[in-house]
Amino acid sequence: MRQITLCLLFLLGTIVSSTAQQPKKLNSSEIYEAVQKLNVLGSVLYIAAHPDDENTRLISYMSNEVKARTAYLSLTRGDGGQNLIGPEIRELLGVIRTQELLAARRIDGGEQRFTRANDFGYSKHPDETLDIWNKDEVLSDVVWAIREFKPDIIINRFDHRTPGRTHGHHTASAMLSMEAFDLANDASKYPSQLQLTETWQPKRLFFNTSWWFYGSQENFEKADKSNMLNFDIGVYYPTKGMSNNEVASLASSQHLCQGFGRLTTRGTQEEYIEFLKGEPLDGSNDVFAGIDTSWNRIEGGQAIGNILNEVERNFSFINPAAHLPQLLEAYKLLQNVKNKHWKTIKTKELKTIIEACAGLYIEVSANDPHASPDSNVSLNIEALNRSNVNIKLVSYQLSTLNDGISKNMDMPENQRLNFEEGITIPKNIHYTTPYWLNKKSTLGMYHVEKKEWIGLPETPRAVFVDFNLNIEGTPITITKPVVYRYSRPDKGELYRPFEIIPPVSASITDKVFIFENDQQKDIEVTVKAGADAIEGYVQMAYPDDWNVYPQKQKIEIANKGDIQKVVFTVIPPKNQSEGLITPMVNYKGEFYTDELIEIDYTHIPYQTVLMPSVSKVVRLDIEKRGNNIGYIEGAGDVVPESLRQIGYNVTTIKPEQISSENLANFDAIVVGIRAYNIVDDMKFKQKFLLDYVKEGGNLIIQYNTSRGINTEDISPYELELSRDRVTDENAEVKILDPDHPILNFPNKITTKDFEGWVQERGLYFPDKWSEEFTPLLAMNDKGETSKEGSLLVAKYGKGNYIYTGLSFFREFPAGVSGAYRLFANLLSAGKEDTNKLKN
Ligand SMILES: [Zn+2]
Repeated sequence: MRQITLCLLFLLGTIVSSTAQQPKKLNSSEIYEAVQKLNVLGSVLYIAAHPDDENTRLISYMSNEVKARTAYLSLTRGDGGQNLIGPEIRELLGVIRTQELLAARRIDGGEQRFTRANDFGYSKHPDETLDIWNKDEVLSDVVWAIREFKPDIIINRFDHRTPGRTHGHHTASAMLSMEAFDLANDASKYPSQLQLTETWQPKRLFFNTSWWFYGSQENFEKADKSNMLNFDIGVYYPTKGMSNNEVASLASSQHLCQGFGRLTTRGTQEEYIEFLKGEPLDGSNDVFAGIDTSWNRIEGGQAIGNILNEVERNFSFINPAAHLPQLLEAYKLLQNVKNKHWKTIKTKELKTIIEACAGLYIEVSANDPHASPDSNVSLNIEALNRSNVNIKLVSYQLSTLNDGISKNMDMPENQRLNFEEGITIPKNIHYTTPYWLNKKSTLGMYHVEKKEWIGLPETPRAVFVDFNLNIEGTPITITKPVVYRYSRPDKGELYRPFEIIPPVSASITDKVFIFENDQQKDIEVTVKAGADAIEGYVQMAYPDDWNVYPQKQKIEIANKGDIQKVVFTVIPPKNQSEGLITPMVNYKGEFYTDELIEIDYTHIPYQTVLMPSVSKVVRLDIEKRGNNIGYIEGAGDVVPESLRQIGYNVTTIKPEQISSENLANFDAIVVGIRAYNIVDDMKFKQKFLLDYVKEGGNLIIQYNTSRGINTEDISPYELELSRDRVTDENAEVKILDPDHPILNFPNKITTKDFEGWVQERGLYFPDKWSEEFTPLLAMNDKGETSKEGSLLVAKYGKGNYIYTGLSFFREFPAGVSGAYRLFANLLSAGKEDTNKLKN
């Protein structure tokens, strides 16, 4: 029974992902392709670390040319990257990238899987990666994916033999795949998985090599390829009117938040895979050599194959419904097959084909895009047979009800059946929010309560309908998730997944509030109704030494979807302190503490995500000198807003406004991250900035990448940027010159100020500088030499030139107090003898 439930869950996951926008209806060519694929019983699992690592050319080739069941196992959801299309970062970026992978798979025909590994950001070495991930848990998830998917062939994107050459996550993905290949068939390994699935031995493991791994095209041409297979991944598919590489480009262009939109390509192109282990190659160019991938592979398969191969050979593009008698016969035979794995997969494929051949249109749409538990929803059901075969709607079963609803109605050709069903959403139903975010994650791992959900791309939909049909005497159940269908005059017909959300949610716009003194701040809370007629109150959870008033505020919201705003006054303690505040909405005696986040882009289905509604409050013990800060924008950081939060008056200076007169009145000038990489004007304006320092100014330049600096004189003295970075945010920081004014005035900086940093210490540190510079700090990642270039200070004329690769731009938005205190000192450099201007 558990097996059946599990299969059903997997099935639902896939159905939903392909119907989340507009439900897919197959045309004749697509039905034919599906029949071709139905007749192949072979599978390929492609393994890498991130969304976009996957070689869509090869995935598409395996799926569309070889016709194998093909999946991409991405160990992470890409949470650690940057977002080029919107404000979402971290977990929310992982949600977008999960959906972009699903969008890519809808195009290249693959399936998508994950592990619980959290993409914690850049990692130099797989040893570090596997330390931060829980290696055993990620390995068990790779084993689980192999046991569940049961691939004949595994293909690694990365080389397990070259640690340190690429991102640590990449090499780790290949190393784990190598290990899992040997463990998946061992019943003594991860035995609890075997309550849900069986052991499995893949046949072969390959590495998807390319010239890149050989340093140059030339080297690769010369390399020994006797242990490799190669494929022309430029094959043309007349049924699609596209070449394989075009399909692949369209698929990888779904990774829009990573800026992967690109031109399509065509024409012959070789792709190589290197044999690593398993059953030796037989000299042919067949990945499946020695594996029977026909219906003969399974007991009882031959008779099914005879029927379905005939359908394929004589396929009628004009009237696919003509094949229904054969398809139904094959369906009946398939139900008696003992091999549960292939029976489940092929039943699902065959049902899709039968549904498409009959031109069946079955849809359940709700009158609302979302509902909360214990609320009522009305469903509109449409069922239509667009063929001349005899189909009867026997009954349908709503997942929210115990009993099916009997219909026993004929479905005459092209006569629409319409039903309305009012349902009550069960009280204990799960929300549709991404399941891996239900519990707090660690830096390296997500936690998943339901073991059977591990690896699924999405949370299985809880509201769906099983339609029990009788097609020409054969009972077949077709399952449809509930969708929300609507129209917009300027967009036409639109679809959204039907979501289950809480009755109330609350949010605070800012994630960090900095209190630079003991003055109170007003903080606004937005409460959103997920149900009608919400009455309750909201109160705030806050740290012991802080205070919030009023204690409670009343909430009354008439209509679902509306919001109410309330303001709380937050009073910080006298001394340095930090903690978290959470709005808690009490409704019908229960507290709701989540925020409902909506993600809405056109290339992926609309998403709602529930995240704990938490903001950080930080009372700084900070002294400052100077008040007027000039800020020159680079690639974009929140340094200006952060400095304003601690009371500075920050003016953004446009590159064209940089002149001696304009700079003269500022107490300090801060240059945004990567300004010398991306702002062309900097090369003409550097002279004014250095003159400003000479005349007594205080210039702070944040990190630039070592390549593509657009000026020769970024510094008045010799300074060479390198690729040195310290990615461990907890790496020990040594203070090289404890008596230096920058570390003492106006705030005494100690190693304590380097506690609680996030993501990394810093990047692109200079590794060579002239003697005028004083290095102030030393730090390094595990196993590396000490890096002393993170914070360099030099006197120039009457002023101070400061270059820093420390990641202030990451620490400020995370409310890291030590970063604020150190930066206040950088801004105060040279102002030791001015009068105390402190508030
Ligand atoms: Zn990657």
